[in-house]
Amino acid sequence: MGIDRVHSRIANIQSRIIALQTQQAAPTVQSTQTTQKTTSSGDTFANYLQDAVAAAPTANKSYKLNAKGIPEDLAAYGNGRIPADALEKVGNTRHKLWAPAAESLTRMMADAEKDGVKIGITDSYRPYTEQVDLARRKGLYSQGGLAAKPGTSEHGWGMATDLDLNSKALGWMKQNADKYGFVNNVARENWHWAYKPKSV
Ligand SMILES: [Zn+2]
Repeated sequence: MGIDRVHSRIANIQSRIIALQTQQAAPTVQSTQTTQKTTSSGDTFANYLQDAVAAAPTANKSYKLNAKGIPEDLAAYGNGRIPADALEKVGNTRHKLWAPAAESLTRMMADAEKDGVKIGITDSYRPYTEQVDLARRKGLYSQGGLAAKPGTSEHGWGMATDLDLNSKALGWMKQNADKYGFVNNVARENWHWAYKPKSV
């Protein structure tokens, strides 16, 4: 409000204080001021709340793969450029994957453990810079090495994990992994398991 209106309002309040001084003047003025304050900050809060609600993720987020098999909710970020909070932790490990893959791997590891099989995780989501580093150290798969071309790795979408498997665990995986949507899809890497669910 303009300064003149503020001044006239103060003058008005002061005159009311004087007029009502012997009665309940103070409480009345107090309450007028409080109401005014609540109203103006209430507008701000309502706006803030509206923005916050609009920005918040949907409670029941639905996860889908696009035609290229890439998670729809991650595609816009780009391979290896996914923010940490868009991925989900695998159990209580430090490893992260696309949420449905993380949940399925967590369940698979727990079920394997019930069968007396220990499945360890060596690697999971791999940022672009790490893909570049890996290609430099291990060579490109297309040239006989062990790394995908940077920017194309399944790890870069949080859709593959490298597992630490002894022979018993590898046998268990070959028997059971597909029930959890995981497939060993790289010929020379029996540790590399990609998440290829029949449905999400
Ligand atoms: Zn791998």
